[in-house]
Amino acid sequence: MNQPEYDVAIVGAGFAGLYLLHQCRELGLSARAWEAGTGVGGTWYWNRYPGARCDVESVQYSYQFDDALQQEWDWSERYAPQPEILRYAEHVAERFSLYDDIEFNRRVAAANFDEQSALWTLHAEDGDTVTARFCIMATGSLSVPNWPDVRGRDDFNGELHHTALWPHDGVDFRDKRVAVVGTGSSAIQSIPMIAKDAASVTVFQRTPNYSVPAHNHPMDPDYAAKIKANYADLRARQGETFNNIAGEHAKRSAMSVDEAERIAEYERRWREGGLLFLASFDDILMDEAANDTMKSFVHDKIRSVVNDPDVAELLCPDNIIGGKRLCVDTDYFATYNRDNVSLVDLRQHPIDRINSKGIEVGGQQYNVDVIVFATGFDAMTGALTRIDIRGRGGALLRERWKDGPSTYLGIAMNDFPNLFTVNGPGSPSVLTNMLPSIEQHVQWITACIAYARDAGHNIVEPTAQAESEWWAHVQDTAGRGLKSSADSWYVGANIAGKARVFLPYYGGFPEYRRRCDEIAKNGYSGFAMSG
Ligand code: NAP
Repeated sequence: MNQPEYDVAIVGAGFAGLYLLHQCRELGLSARAWEAGTGVGGTWYWNRYPGARCDVESVQYSYQFDDALQQEWDWSERYAPQPEILRYAEHVAERFSLYDDIEFNRRVAAANFDEQSALWTLHAEDGDTVTARFCIMATGSLSVPNWPDVRGRDDFNGELHHTALWPHDGVDFRDKRVAVVGTGSSAIQSIPMIAKDAASVTVFQRTPNYSVPAHNHPMDPDYAAKIKANYADLRARQGETFNNIAGEHAKRSAMSVDEAERIAEYERRWREGGLLFLASFDDILMDEAANDTMKSFVHDKIRSVVNDPDVAELLCPDNIIGGKRLCVDTDYFATYNRDNVSLVDLRQHPIDRINSKGIEVGGQQYNVDVIVFATGFDAMTGALTRIDIRGRGGALLRERWKDGPSTYLGIAMNDFPNLFTVNGPGSPSVLTNMLPSIEQHVQWITACIAYARDAGHNIVEPTAQAESEWWAHVQDTAGRGLKSSADSWYVGANIAGKARVFLPYYGGFPEYRRRCDEIAKNGYSGFAMSG
């Protein structure tokens, strides 16, 4: 009765789940992954909307655990498009024979810990079960689509899609009138692509967003060869930065230079493109005056691109730049110069309702054939609270977290023995380049399990004290600077009724890794091992 079917049950076969499977095998642990989709790839399996691509450079948004894999895989563009990243995930699954241990079409409904046997039982929605000593949630940080509570969605007679649940055979926009709800990263990538095909695109914007140009381009073979010749150096440089993205992270204040120099720096970075625009100076997210200088630079850029001054003003965000996740685009603002694209401002009037013919706002009717919800995710906690996770004494994780989550290192929770989360709340995760952060978590978690096994323990659980100290530290770092003041998904502000708590760890990747390494070196301090 005390013998599980597997040492480790893994929930999810995205980049975290795939590497977990591989790493478990390397350590001699039997493992099985359950995946809700019909294929691997996680985020890149579900988000197939037009224009979907990663906004971290492809040579950096990739696994580093196997050098042969790094050497054999060729990225075609500076920023990899979704189909290519999905092919990469499939390639990894094949190359390391991972498919043998993945069950698809298995959405986990419940996970229960039995104290007597010290085993987890996972229950799939289809009624199937699996038992394992350890359970690792590789369920993604942005994997539960947010359908806003808009009246009448079911009344619509046309096609209705969410960017995060995109049909596998695509959507034909030709000659269609399309509504896009939302102006976050998913919308900003998809709107220019949809506008090329559709008869018309009407964008329903509640909060305008900051976006910097991607300046995407085909991969330069010389650059790729240079990276491959010294991949280790690039990976080392990544890991030394706050967000696990190698590049130019300025070490000076925006206010330490005069205006001309500041603007010249913003211009240079704008021409370069990409997320590191925010790293032009080191106090953009620390000092409101510094933030204002970058804000007004981007406002000027928007005004210089968008022909209609009223539309340009509507597209200029007034919140701090970098408070919400910065977007990276190709021709987003210029798309509003097209005759077939229009913008509806929802700040005066939110959407009244959806009806059979389209969307009604402030008493005005917008008739459309297709509605695209680009309305984001119940981030970081949503995938975990949707599963009925019960630990010691029947403790229900969803109930524990109703006023906000609490974890040890974003990896484990007291009263939930032998349960681990990859990139859980309280880890750097979404503030960093996800792939290397996933690798760090997977290596740490599997090493912890192997350590317990080798020491003859079958129960691993963080102490209540270690968890509360970690969570206090997470909240302390969150209070630094301006980021947590923004109404973003980082604080759950996009989900009605969700507790407002800054969810990721804001101490930076190097500091986080240093602490994790120290804890491991000290025999996994903060964890009680028994059994
Ligand atoms: P998001 O950033 O949360 O954006 C959702 C959008 O929907 C926002 O503009 C939001 O407006 C709007 N919205 C939500 N409810 C609404 C309602 N009831 N009425 C009108 N508008 C509503 O979601 P996302 O664009 O899917 O991106 C989420 C995250 O995924 C990104 O921040 C990024 O981390 C990741 N992502 C990355 C990439 C990439 O690598 N390139 C691409 C896509 C996504 P408010 O702002 O007013 O709430």
